Amino acid sequence: MAARYPDFRLGSVLATSFTATLTERCGDALERIPTPQRLVDWLAVSGLAVESCTPAQLDLARELREAIHAAATATARGEALPAAAVQVINERSTRGRAAPVLTPEGDRRWQLGSASRVEDALSVIAADAIGIVSGERDGRMALCGSPTCQAAFFDTSQSRTRRWCDMGTCGNREKKARYLANQRKKSG
Ligand SMILES: [Zn+2]
Repeated sequence: MAARYPDFRLGSVLATSFTATLTERCGDALERIPTPQRLVDWLAVSGLAVESCTPAQLDLARELREAIHAAATATARGEALPAAAVQVINERSTRGRAAPVLTPEGDRRWQLGSASRVEDALSVIAADAIGIVSGERDGRMALCGSPTCQAAFFDTSQSRTRRWCDMGTCGNREKKARYLANQRKKSG
């Protein structure tokens, strides 16, 4: 069943993994959480398993996703944060219950409120977004160099010179385009 839905683009940063559930924003946009169940699936693989999701909760999630995208994009461009985006992020951050707990192995895990609601999971994602947008965390907000993508991503590379949101997709596509252009130059 799941195979007929687009797969997920999971990165190491929760908030930008979440914004990557809508890809090719400046081209042929692809919605990777088209149904409430797909949001449930995404949350499960992201360590935020919830009991269920209603269409209204999916709307809340997408509203948060677009707010994070807007705030992260403004940060990457050195612009002021859009007030509406800040409000949505703060609302989601404060209206869910979740707490970090330590596993016996010493890893952090998120424990959602007793009902494991979507709102609880969204509060963790909103808090993660606050961490990267505020500069609390070590890294640099940047925009993907692919013109059809332009996703905001969090660059934690040593040199802070990452150009693509994802090496396997946007980076690879650019490499291929360059290669083909070079081939054409050689043969022409
Ligand atoms: Zn990209």
